[in-house]
Amino acid sequence: EIREVAEAFNALTSSLRSYHDDLECLVEERTVQLQQVNQRLEEDIFQKQAVEKALRASNAFNTNVINSMHDALAVIESGSFRIVSANRVFLRENGYSHEEEVLGKSCFAITHHLPAPCFHFGHACPLIECLETGQTVMVEHTHCGKTGDRSEEIIASPIQDVSGIISQVIHVSRDVTERKKAENRIRELAYFDALTGLPNRQLLLDRLTQTMKTARRNGKKAAVLFLDLDRFKTINESLGLGAGDALLTHVARRLKECTREADTVARLSADEFAIILGEVDHDDSPAVYSQRILDIFGDPVPLEERQAYISCSIGIALFPRDGEDAETLLKNADTAMYAAKNQGRNRYHFFSEAMNAMALQRLTLENGIRRALKENEFFLCYQPQVSLETGEISCLEALIRWQDPEAGLISPADFIPLAEETTLILDIDEWVLRTACLQARQWHLKGLSRLKVAVNISGRQFKQPNFIDMVDRVLAETELPPEMLELELTEGHLMDNISKTIMILTDLKVRGIQLAIDDFGTGYSSLSYLKNFPIDRVKIDQSFVRSLPSDASDKAIVEAIIALARSLGMEVIAEGVETQEQLTFLLEMGCREMQGYFFGRPGRIEDIEVQMSQTRPYEHHSLFVQKGQRSKTPDNEARCRQPSPII
Ligand code: C2E
Ligand code: MG
Ligand code: MG
Repeated sequence: EIREVAEAFNALTSSLRSYHDDLECLVEERTVQLQQVNQRLEEDIFQKQAVEKALRASNAFNTNVINSMHDALAVIESGSFRIVSANRVFLRENGYSHEEEVLGKSCFAITHHLPAPCFHFGHACPLIECLETGQTVMVEHTHCGKTGDRSEEIIASPIQDVSGIISQVIHVSRDVTERKKAENRIRELAYFDALTGLPNRQLLLDRLTQTMKTARRNGKKAAVLFLDLDRFKTINESLGLGAGDALLTHVARRLKECTREADTVARLSADEFAIILGEVDHDDSPAVYSQRILDIFGDPVPLEERQAYISCSIGIALFPRDGEDAETLLKNADTAMYAAKNQGRNRYHFFSEAMNAMALQRLTLENGIRRALKENEFFLCYQPQVSLETGEISCLEALIRWQDPEAGLISPADFIPLAEETTLILDIDEWVLRTACLQARQWHLKGLSRLKVAVNISGRQFKQPNFIDMVDRVLAETELPPEMLELELTEGHLMDNISKTIMILTDLKVRGIQLAIDDFGTGYSSLSYLKNFPIDRVKIDQSFVRSLPSDASDKAIVEAIIALARSLGMEVIAEGVETQEQLTFLLEMGCREMQGYFFGRPGRIEDIEVQMSQTRPYEHHSLFVQKGQRSKTPDNEARCRQPSPII
């Protein structure tokens, strides 16, 4: 038993030993494995540390690189425009010292102090452009950081994420302020006159070429004025070069002051200047402008303690008439300037003789109108408008006349169109309105309380913003009841701006003022609009009355106008009635009011007052008599033909 136990014990011991041996083997094996894993781990850690080190080195390298750049760099998030990264130059240029101060802020807040992306010089924000196009964008741009404005050249490049979407933009900017200043300085030296700061000959020629191109494209005219100071040499020699320079600077300033923004004043040489006038409406408007310059030169120039008087001579060349290129045009203006000098200086001269004569004539007339207003050379004639219902004068149309001391009596047809091109018509119209209202008031005080006065209003006057105020003022001053005033307006002017016209007409109407459309039928106005105008009367133009009743088409037109006016509830009056036949036809057509030589020419107040003193002066033409009971006595016939003074 003991042996059995011993054998069993031995067997157990042996199996335990074998088990222990196995275990030892396994432990050994595992230890080897662990050692291998450990080694690999150590290698991994080493590699990782090496990568991290390399990354840090690379980051430091990148930071060093971008910080050593001379250009400002910022990385900007695409959607929010927030700054993700910025280099030192970017911080410095925008007035910051630490990256943290700008990180997370929007780039436009930092570079512009704006709440939204900026817009400069006609191009959108370069970042937006870059995001929209997906391309690198290069622009010149002005930034205004804390340190002030700077011109910058900007390159904005897109950065795409793994899915190809642009997630960020690299914004590199270079401060070119100094370079720009230098360029401008060079340009100034190359293109501007150092003494006066005006463009020099070179720039003038460039701009003239440009102006001519634009004028040609728009089918417009342009002009160049060549100015030379008269006797400048004398001033220079007698008062010294300093005074000469001061005078030239003064002249330059005066010329600039009287030139439109878009036009160019240049100094060509010592005492020669040139002016480009773009968009010339009338051939002779350069003459009007030149006269203004000559007038300005009439004022003395303060020079140190004295006053110097200086004049200039101006030559005018028109494009395209006087030259197709800048050099030729300027040369021809120079030639014209010599003609002005030869004719006695202190004047202007056109290159073309025909233009010269026309401009002079126009200018003389314009100056004449100015003088006439000042010297009371205008007076009014009145022409009766007759009611054929009653045979009475219902209204007198005021018609202006000009008694020029030298030229004699001048018809409005010869000066009103010119006055309408200038602002002179405004003064004329106001003078006529005041004079006619005063006269009408006199007649009312004498008992002619139902007599109206009609005044012609020019289109220019009608469009003045203060037109109604002017009418109000005149009515208040003259105390004429508004119902006694009729304003005659022509179709063309009413059709210019329909809604505005309706407002003005309504404003006049609510005051009780009577409104008539003059020369009706000549303006091709849209009849559909007529019904919207609060008009009392339509005056059939005399051109349709002239050939009545023989001309079939005029007959048809007059019939149509009368029918139209009637359908719109407007009165109708025929102008230019000269014969009994015209009168009879018009009466048959239903026209009850007429004006024309048949009843009386425009006459002076005295003559008109004689006519008005008769009761029913036109009774013999009245409807009642025309319809059969006509008493065509020689006496009546004589009265109707009675020649009133022809004015
Ligand atoms: P308008 O307002 O149509 O005036 C009528 C014109 O026809 C007047 O010429 C008048 O003398 C003329 N006339 C009248 N009856 C007859 C006739 O039977 N036969 C002929 N052949 N002519 C006749 P006037 O006075 O020379 O005025 C011409 C135009 O000048 C006027 O036409 C008006 O447009 C303008 N005008 C006249 N006075 C003034 C004024 O004070 N201010 C404004 N802005 N324009 C005026
Ligand atoms: Mg009229
Ligand atoms: Mg008329």
